[in-house]
Amino acid sequence: MKINIQYLEDGLHQFEEQTELGLLDERIKQYYPENAVVTVTVDKFGSDFRLDIVLTTHAHYICDRCLNPFEQAFKAHQQQLFHRGKFAVQPDEDIIELEGDAIEIDLDSLLAEMVLINHPIKMLCSEDCKGICPGCGADLNQEVCRCSEKPVDPRWASLQKLIK
Ligand SMILES: [Zn+2]
Ligand SMILES: [Zn+2]
Repeated sequence: MKINIQYLEDGLHQFEEQTELGLLDERIKQYYPENAVVTVTVDKFGSDFRLDIVLTTHAHYICDRCLNPFEQAFKAHQQQLFHRGKFAVQPDEDIIELEGDAIEIDLDSLLAEMVLINHPIKMLCSEDCKGICPGCGADLNQEVCRCSEKPVDPRWASLQKLIK
C-alpha cells in the first residue's frame, strides 16, 4: 500500500485500502492468506508525517492444542512518524526518513512488521480447548479419551491366558 504525499496539504487526511500482505515473514505467511483492510490517518505538518495505521484481516490459524484449523479476526494498530528530507539535527531512530523528493510513502514492510508483532505466541481455538489425548489421540473437545478402555479383541484375551 502506498500513500501519495505529492500534493498533500498540511492537516489530517484519511486513506482506506484493501491490500495484499505481500512482505510477510515466511514463518507466519500461511496464517494470513486474505487481503487486509488498512485505514491510515495522516497528520501532515511541513516535512513531518504522523501516521496512525489500523490493519484488520482474517487470520487462518491452527490450534496448538487440538490441531484443528480455525479463523479469527486479526487487528493491529501502530503509529509511525515519517520525515521527508534530511534531518536538520540528529537522526532519530523512531522516525523513518524519506527522500527529499519522495512523492509517496510505501507501507508494505511496515504492515508486514505490524502483523509479525501482533502474531499470537499461542494459537488456541478457544481458551478452554481440551486438546488431544497424547495416549489415544482423541480430540477431547469432541470425543472421550479411550485410554482406559480394556482391549476387547478375543484373540488378545486368549493370548493373555497362554502367557499365564
Ligand atoms: Zn483447539
Ligand atoms: Zn486417551
